[in-house]
Amino acid sequence: MSDTEYQCRWCSRSFTRERTLASHVCEKKRRWMIADEPSSRIAFQVWLDFMRHVSPHAKKQRTIEDFIRSPDYLSFVKFANYLIELKPVESEKFIKWLFKMNVRISDWQKPGTYALYVQENSKRETAERAVERTLLTIKEWSEETNIPWQEFFDQAPPVAVMNLIVMGRISPWILYSSTKAQNMLEKMEPGQLATIARSIDTQWWIKKIKRHPEEVQWISTILQ
Ligand SMILES: [Zn+2]
Repeated sequence: MSDTEYQCRWCSRSFTRERTLASHVCEKKRRWMIADEPSSRIAFQVWLDFMRHVSPHAKKQRTIEDFIRSPDYLSFVKFANYLIELKPVESEKFIKWLFKMNVRISDWQKPGTYALYVQENSKRETAERAVERTLLTIKEWSEETNIPWQEFFDQAPPVAVMNLIVMGRISPWILYSSTKAQNMLEKMEPGQLATIARSIDTQWWIKKIKRHPEEVQWISTILQ
């Protein structure tokens, strides 16, 4: 009789019976078992992109097994869960920005990090793109509430508008060009305005708006 041993490929523990190995669970085997779940898939994809970013010339094809064995596994899964909850505007752009700015992994899901991204991202957007994106958001709100989209800045609760601004779904282009939006901001509480101020570089936008009267005119005719 051979005393065949059954070894866990993840932690190398040995078992005398195959059934005991089958029911054995260790941390890395657990990771393997949930590899198809959305958070694991997203985490793996972000990790692959990150590894490509930090070592673009590596020839070796990285696998899910490399990820499971990586010391950064848990950080990336946490970040994936954060993304699932946050639903950022243009997720891929946000992730690329984190890499490009060399933001430390431990800071990826700090609220201030996303706020800074929203602030910087809105500065690079054309007025056309900003209007297109903001109108999509406002029309979604209109469909959910059955209120005409033109009444968004009059009817939407300030806290809902605040959240959409903080998420980057309503561009400063619109906030500073539309009279209705300005009136709505005036109705907000100081705490809400302070929250918005973390996602918008106010001084930068005031200067920008002054330099672009045609865009402001165009936006204000669309949004009154
Ligand atoms: Zn094991």
